[in-house]
Amino acid sequence: MAPDSEFANASFGKPDFDVVVVGSGFAGLYLLHKLRELGFSARALEAAGDVGGTWYWNRYPGARCDIMSIDYSYSFDPDLETEWQWSEKYATQPEILRYLQHVAAKHDLRRDIAFETRVESATWDKDSSRWLIRTNRGAEITCRYYVMAAGCLSKPKEPEIEGCDCFRGEVYYTSRWPHRGVDFTAKRVAVIGTGSSGIQSIPLIAAQAKQLTVFQRTPNFSIPAHNGPIPTHRLAEYERDRAGYRERARWSRFGVPIELAEIGAMQVSEEERRARYEAVWEAGELVGIGLAFNDIILNPKSNETLCEFIGGKIRAIVTNPETAEALCPTDHYVATKRACLDTNYYETFNLDHVRLVDLRKTPLARITETGIDTTSESFEFDAIVYATGFDAMTGPIVAVNITGRNGVTLRNKWADGPLSYLGLMTTGFPNFFAVTGPGSPSVLSNMTVSIEQHVDWICNCLKDLRDENLEVIEPTATAEAGWVQHVNDCANITLFPTANSWYMGANVPGKPRVFLPYIGGTDAYRTACNEVVARGYLGFVRSGSGQRRVNDGVIRRLQPDVQMLLEAMSALNLPPLEEMSPEAARAFSSELSAVRPPGPEVGEIVDGVLPGAGGDLDYRLYRPATAGPHRVVVYFHGGGWVLGSHDSDDPFCRDLCVRSNAVFVSVNYRHAPEHCFPAAAEDAFAAVRWIADHLETLGGVPGPLVVCGWSAGGNLAAVVCQMARAADGPAICGQVLVTPVTDCDFLRPSYNENGADYVLTKSLMNWFWDHYADPANRTDPKASPLRANDLSGLPRALVVTAEFDPLRDEGAAYAEAMAAAGVEVKHLPCRGQIHTSLTAVDMILSGAGARAEISAAIRQFFHQVEDLVMRDN
Ligand SMILES: Cc1cc2nc3c(=O)[nH]c(=O)nc-3n(C[C@H](O)[C@H](O)[C@H](O)COP(=O)(O)OP(=O)(O)OC[C@H]3O[C@@H](n4cnc5c(N)ncnc54)[C@H](O)[C@@H]3O)c2cc1C
Repeated sequence: MAPDSEFANASFGKPDFDVVVVGSGFAGLYLLHKLRELGFSARALEAAGDVGGTWYWNRYPGARCDIMSIDYSYSFDPDLETEWQWSEKYATQPEILRYLQHVAAKHDLRRDIAFETRVESATWDKDSSRWLIRTNRGAEITCRYYVMAAGCLSKPKEPEIEGCDCFRGEVYYTSRWPHRGVDFTAKRVAVIGTGSSGIQSIPLIAAQAKQLTVFQRTPNFSIPAHNGPIPTHRLAEYERDRAGYRERARWSRFGVPIELAEIGAMQVSEEERRARYEAVWEAGELVGIGLAFNDIILNPKSNETLCEFIGGKIRAIVTNPETAEALCPTDHYVATKRACLDTNYYETFNLDHVRLVDLRKTPLARITETGIDTTSESFEFDAIVYATGFDAMTGPIVAVNITGRNGVTLRNKWADGPLSYLGLMTTGFPNFFAVTGPGSPSVLSNMTVSIEQHVDWICNCLKDLRDENLEVIEPTATAEAGWVQHVNDCANITLFPTANSWYMGANVPGKPRVFLPYIGGTDAYRTACNEVVARGYLGFVRSGSGQRRVNDGVIRRLQPDVQMLLEAMSALNLPPLEEMSPEAARAFSSELSAVRPPGPEVGEIVDGVLPGAGGDLDYRLYRPATAGPHRVVVYFHGGGWVLGSHDSDDPFCRDLCVRSNAVFVSVNYRHAPEHCFPAAAEDAFAAVRWIADHLETLGGVPGPLVVCGWSAGGNLAAVVCQMARAADGPAICGQVLVTPVTDCDFLRPSYNENGADYVLTKSLMNWFWDHYADPANRTDPKASPLRANDLSGLPRALVVTAEFDPLRDEGAAYAEAMAAAGVEVKHLPCRGQIHTSLTAVDMILSGAGARAEISAAIRQFFHQVEDLVMRDN
């Protein structure tokens, strides 16, 4: 233990240390090593009596890692990989602790660690640009940089059960297990909690105890670990090229080099689905669960098939049907709470001396002097084991009283949920870093990979500051808000927020319900962190030696699924459409249409023909599955007046048909350059007239129509409304213009900002216009509806624009101009979307909200008509 006098000169001269690190688990140890390597003076402060962190404290029977040992280990020291041989696929706690002790000894790290020293407060002193750290030992230490490597799961959650203190028997906490071990032989034991620690310890406690009663509030999904030797194929892969293997792990989704599935669960037959799930069950690998199909954590229907599969396994293992049922999770999707790996967990409930008490049926009332009372029964025990989990991620950080600039405490700043930039730093708290903090992949990854990445990033950042003669770094408020938004955007397209999990803070009373980790993937996260540095520490203010460098900005502005789609498209190196002939471009876009998800089922699809302005036009009618007749929407597809068909917009039409419960009639129109302006506009208007005249034949409700269109189709929908106004009919009660072309002017800022990188480019738009209309015709309101002299009297409108669309500003301008002319308009700007993403049903899940709003607007347009009819009657 370090003597306190060591820190006595805290407030004079240079700070005591360049860096103070809290913790000496995987993170703290590597930090010390790396900082030392880079020539920084560093001191780690550790509440425990030795190194190990998680593996120092959690000594309960059955404690092991649930990421394979070869993956769950350091990669920074290649010699370590040859020196250390893991004995099992999933190493036990003693083995992992020995490993960390070995690392500490090998790199002589203990000499820089003060054990049994708990950090209680940390205060930023702006005058000296340093942190003042206070510990439970009364020490005061100053440092330039303060790094919390305090762990995500190091603050046990206290059981909040009445009477906890009055039990006279033995009491144990899985997260603070006695070093001497515990012998349960001949004892009546209770275990409260069936999270990972409960699931690991229950079979081993049952093997010793005379009687074991498990109190379960929420069942969890668990699959067998099939522990034993490391699988030979994996070991061979690792041994063949360790450096390559580690690199693949670093750039993988969850920090483990497992291939991603390329197909969704609902895209294969039931047999194939089952075969894949059997393989997952047999492989016994945690990350394998979420990777069985590419939509397990995205699509409720897909996830339900896996829930059913695991439920089937539980029912087949557990012989008592009531117990089996109680063990089957019903309140959350697989993987949305931390799933578990077990050894004989479900089998344990077949033992005569083991009983499960389902607290959902008979809640826990209190702990008594002799045992536990539920609402229906009293139990007597010799020992109670609490496996009640942790105040995860934010708990250990805010347990320290951290005060940043202007006396603001982190506890207050994070009262409604953590705000961080990259999960690494937080605005207002300069030079304060967290390893695997909230907003980083942390607990949703192999943590050793995430820890190494964070430590490397932090240490390189400190080195860069030193090299540039700077001392202080702090994220900007804009960067932080942007990252928090991105973290939420990533979570919101998954099923994770639907579960009452500790990922959401739901296990701790009063904790804000915020999704804490970053689910975008360790690969995507690493890319973002690297990009921040490559762009000159984007989102940071760095200062020192009379310099102040502000590099404000947001690192991720696209919706995460849009970003992934763009990256996938860029990897395919697709040829630009504008370099093709129209025929080739049409064929190419048809090929793309053929390989995307089909969209939802509708009640009926009917193809037909209607008379256009210059001959027959194909149409496709989508009827909802609900009882008709329905209101009718006329829809025009996108494709720059050159490409597209009702095939190209089929999933979008299906989706809107189902959501808005209206008949959609998607009308083909003549394409340019074969048929230039105004052929498309005249066809569109002719189609609307014909449909208005044949509503009942089409199974529609007589009355006004809604017109809707995307891109060039949005242009046609807008133009049709103007033509109908001029012709005094047909009656249109609403127009929905989705990222529409409304003008031929390329000078608006959105063309400059978004003209190159987001699928619809400026040059492609040029190509479309060149095919569609002569320059002289382009300003005609039938081509550029924004140019109309008068926009009054048009139908109510919803104009949808996408942030990263060259057409964004002209869409917004049209909404504004209509509103100025007295038209009832709603403008829906879609953050992080591109021109093509809102229509990509089942591919761009972040577009679902906009499609819901479009459908709500359509329903609203029709309701307003019905209200009027009722009023008139
Ligand atoms: C039972 C269990 C099993 C796990 N299995 C896996 C697994 O298989 N794979 C995986 O990726 N992750 C697993 N984890 C997560 C695990 O926490 C991390 O993998 C990893 O060990 C974290 O290392 P760390 O150094 O960041 O934090 P920790 O190991 O938690 O170390 C943090 C240290 O900081 C100290 N500390 C905290 N606050 C203070 C303070 N105020 N003052 C002084 N010291 C303080 C603590 O005493 C602790 O020793 C598991 C967690 C648990 C609890």
